[in-house]
Amino acid sequence: MTNSIVSWRNTAVILFISLVINIYGHNSPVSNLVHSYVNVACFKLGLPPLLKHQSAVPLAASAADHNSQIKQYLKSLNAAPLTNEQALEYCPLVPALAPEGYETPYAYFGNPQFREFALKTLKGAVDIPTESFDGSGPVGEDPVWDIFYKFEKYLKEAFPAVHEHLELEHANTHGLVYTWKGKDASLKPVLLAAHQDVVPVLPETRELWTHDPYDSYFDGEVLWGRGTADDKSPLIGILQAIEYILTKEPGYVPNRTIVAAFGFDEESGGNHGARYIGKLLLDKYGPNSFEAIVDEGGQGVHEYQGVKVAIPGVTEKGSVTQKISINTGGGHSSMPPDHTAIGMIAALVKEIEDNPFAPELTTDYNPFFKFLKCIAARSPELDDNIRQVVFRADQGDPVALALVTKYLLKNRLTKYSIQTSQALDIINGGLKANALPEDVSAVINFRVSVDSSVAQTKQKLLGNTQTIAATYGLGVVINETLADGTFALTEVVPKTKKGYFTLSDYKEPFEPAKVSATEGSTWEAYAGSIRHVYQTFAGPIINPAKPPADFSTVKNDLVVVAPGLMTGNTDTKHYWDLTENIYRFSPMRLLNMQISNIHTVNEHLNLDLHLETIVFYYTYIKNIQ
Ligand SMILES: [Zn+2]
Repeated sequence: MTNSIVSWRNTAVILFISLVINIYGHNSPVSNLVHSYVNVACFKLGLPPLLKHQSAVPLAASAADHNSQIKQYLKSLNAAPLTNEQALEYCPLVPALAPEGYETPYAYFGNPQFREFALKTLKGAVDIPTESFDGSGPVGEDPVWDIFYKFEKYLKEAFPAVHEHLELEHANTHGLVYTWKGKDASLKPVLLAAHQDVVPVLPETRELWTHDPYDSYFDGEVLWGRGTADDKSPLIGILQAIEYILTKEPGYVPNRTIVAAFGFDEESGGNHGARYIGKLLLDKYGPNSFEAIVDEGGQGVHEYQGVKVAIPGVTEKGSVTQKISINTGGGHSSMPPDHTAIGMIAALVKEIEDNPFAPELTTDYNPFFKFLKCIAARSPELDDNIRQVVFRADQGDPVALALVTKYLLKNRLTKYSIQTSQALDIINGGLKANALPEDVSAVINFRVSVDSSVAQTKQKLLGNTQTIAATYGLGVVINETLADGTFALTEVVPKTKKGYFTLSDYKEPFEPAKVSATEGSTWEAYAGSIRHVYQTFAGPIINPAKPPADFSTVKNDLVVVAPGLMTGNTDTKHYWDLTENIYRFSPMRLLNMQISNIHTVNEHLNLDLHLETIVFYYTYIKNIQ
């Protein structure tokens, strides 16, 4: 946290400890212990290290010196680096899990007839423009939702066996909940989730599409159209896997109930769809009643630092979106005050951006660290010194942890796994070139780190606001939305004649999701299915002309399953009460750029990837029994 009050209290404590140690010497056991913590704290607060220690390395060198700093630190420890074999213990593999008798269906999934069926059904789904928009009215009033009647009708035609054998319930009209009743009522059901809606195609971008987004085009390898990847391939993949089992394996009944649930406004928050589905399932089954929930997300299967890795998201960052308004008197612009409302909000914006959130990497909670350990343990490319500090950080060495943290901060792709992000997205103010602006506002979006909270995030923004309010002699008011929808105003700093800032929720905030289990049988069935599909199986569908005679002889590169952290959100935020095991992973291989352009022009998907998606759901349904 860099909120002024908290950081100054911390700073004072650190200064005091530093003073004591600098006076009483560095070599007592206590000071050695404290020393590391103080310097790590300094680093977190963006201060130079206050304590010098004969064996320690200062942490505040420039980014360019970072690698040599790590090297120096490791040298100063005088400890032997871990061997490659020892390193592997930091990333144990979940055994690949093959469903019984998988050879026959797997061979069938590759044959031309099934490819044809898979393509036809996916294309049919893509061609229905199930767009969802922010700010739509209620279902039944706003005609925007009517397209989902057509989509449901289509699913009924495309998957007759599913609709014959599974029970279908509706949540808020268009939320589809399919139940495939298992034999054993004592087993918790599994929920396979996906969403029917797609991001709208903006009218002004329609011409930029090579092929009509809703008259999708298959070029022999790739299907082009809106929603091919996000999220119709998983949705159709789930139904295709079940349809296959029902038609080709007659008499098969799962032990465990399988529920498939499809929301219809995930792209605009899930408040019309997933929220109602979550409620329906909670009423029907009760809290913590599901074995696991599998939804879209994660980062697919791709190569990172030379390691082929599947990264299911086991948590999501939280979200806070606040509106900052400033109220000041207006007037003619020929006699302005030194700072207009726009100038003062600009100062606040600068204060916010100049004080980013402190990074925090908990080695035992943030799943990103587990991912990092896997890369460190198995990457042939990662710098050996970085690998060694990762292992040391895991052993509880705070200096190593600070060095790892700093390494991650260098890259935008990794830094927000350990830090709350802040983005000023909207600014409004001023109406006329000769009139002082009266009401000026800005909207800021925070994605809350898994190690932080909504309250800490708001506290940091309040701290920044108080600093700038003090500079300009303004008040500060918090406008809080209460559970019953009413508002409560709190004057944190009294309003003045000059005006005041108001902070209010622009969107409903939510906490980071709980971190799901990455050990135990639920995880093993899930991660083992991924490894089996993407490692053992990998090739045959890519080359359907030559399915192997014996699947056990197929040897492919190692695929590691490592937990990840999602910086975005999915429908699963409406399902938190149903289970502790939520896995967000769109089963797709992202190697060689076979999939791209999600949410933008020319979205497309390689048909082979879609077939693998079907194979994944088939495998998981069988393995979770
Ligand atoms: Zn999606």
